Amino acid sequence: MKLIIPWSEQSAIQPEYVRGEGAFIWDELGRRYFDLCSQLMAVNLGHGNRQISEAMADQARNLAYVSPAATVPIRDQLAGKMAEIAPPGLNRVLFTTGGAESIENAIKLARLATGRHKVVTKYRSYHGATSAAIAASGDPRRHSQAAFEPSGIVRIEAPYCTRCPWHQVLGRCDYECSQHLERIIEFEGPHTIAAILLEGESGTSGCIKYPPEYWKRARELATRYGIVLISDEVMSGFGRCGDWFAVSRYGVVPDIITMAKGLTSGYIPMGGVLLKDSLISPKFKGTMLPVGLTYAAHPVGCAAAVSAITQYQENDLVTRAVRTESLILQSLINRLSGIACVLDIRLTGYLGVVELCDPGTRLPLSDWAPWIMDRLSQAGLVGIVRWNYLFFAPPLIAEEVDILWAITQIGAVLDELVATING
Ligand code: PLP
Repeated sequence: MKLIIPWSEQSAIQPEYVRGEGAFIWDELGRRYFDLCSQLMAVNLGHGNRQISEAMADQARNLAYVSPAATVPIRDQLAGKMAEIAPPGLNRVLFTTGGAESIENAIKLARLATGRHKVVTKYRSYHGATSAAIAASGDPRRHSQAAFEPSGIVRIEAPYCTRCPWHQVLGRCDYECSQHLERIIEFEGPHTIAAILLEGESGTSGCIKYPPEYWKRARELATRYGIVLISDEVMSGFGRCGDWFAVSRYGVVPDIITMAKGLTSGYIPMGGVLLKDSLISPKFKGTMLPVGLTYAAHPVGCAAAVSAITQYQENDLVTRAVRTESLILQSLINRLSGIACVLDIRLTGYLGVVELCDPGTRLPLSDWAPWIMDRLSQAGLVGIVRWNYLFFAPPLIAEEVDILWAITQIGAVLDELVATING
């Protein structure tokens, strides 16, 4: 039986990984790789975390599974943890089995709450691979399925300051990006729009940093028109961007937060949707709330999440990114910004990208991703290079010395890339 390799050309050959410890994983030949992107920006606490594994094993031995509607102590414990970390007013939580399911449920809840259908999302965004989640995504990963897309998705231009669609410069602009969002809402009819869906901080669509006021302006528009504001924190949550949820760094409280990945530090599939009670209470008093999945709020997942959240808290990891951000960014800039194929370097906490361009034309450089991945692997790094984006998102527990070493290795690979392109 051959395995399907997700999001890959099917003949691609991967090394076989057999072990992980901290920020490193090893392949079957004993070669060690620094985990440049925490796998899929998930393993925030690094590999081989005994506390999570033991918490999961204890729960599995004690009571591995009960129906999602049942009451069980570990679910209550996790709800208690969520109360400690949730932004004010977000006082209900639905646990799911991953990121895309959280998005599906968030969209469903926003539609049920408002009785409206449309969801406004960005081009250059990614929200998952299931039906509504991929439709709500804006980057080219949706193209192969665009013909079967469910209706109601309205896309806006991303506020992409490096290549501003309105040819403006941040600091001297009039937030044409926010004006564009407002115009689209008005053209579509605010009474038809259930939700505005944005990543808390942009991830694999290019770590495109929001201009400082963008989230606040989106909040104002959502409030003005009774639209549900959803922050997708599947990738940007749990310390990756320097807070429990990246949107908090913009001083904004959304109506719904979706999460996954760092919730269990990737140790078991699990996601969640945090929301305001007022979204569901008036409508579903005495009526069944139509949400739920067989494996939702899985007890073993809850045990992993309780352990992960406790470790983020006890080791002060959630704000670690705020303290290290400028050092890492400066190191990336020092080593990489002079290389002719580097167009831009963006970093928020531990979520960043090196945007690559052709050294001559400065146009996006996308054909070299497999070459770069191969060279990174030879240099002892495993990560993600997609299109013209080389991502940088190590585990939050990575040692500074290893991060700086990884940046040096990336620099050597990109130097070689320019030399190879220039012949
Ligand atoms: N939302 C964002 C921002 C993501 O980055 C991802 C996955 O990378 C998802 C949703 C989908 O999560 P999952 O792959 O767990 O379904």
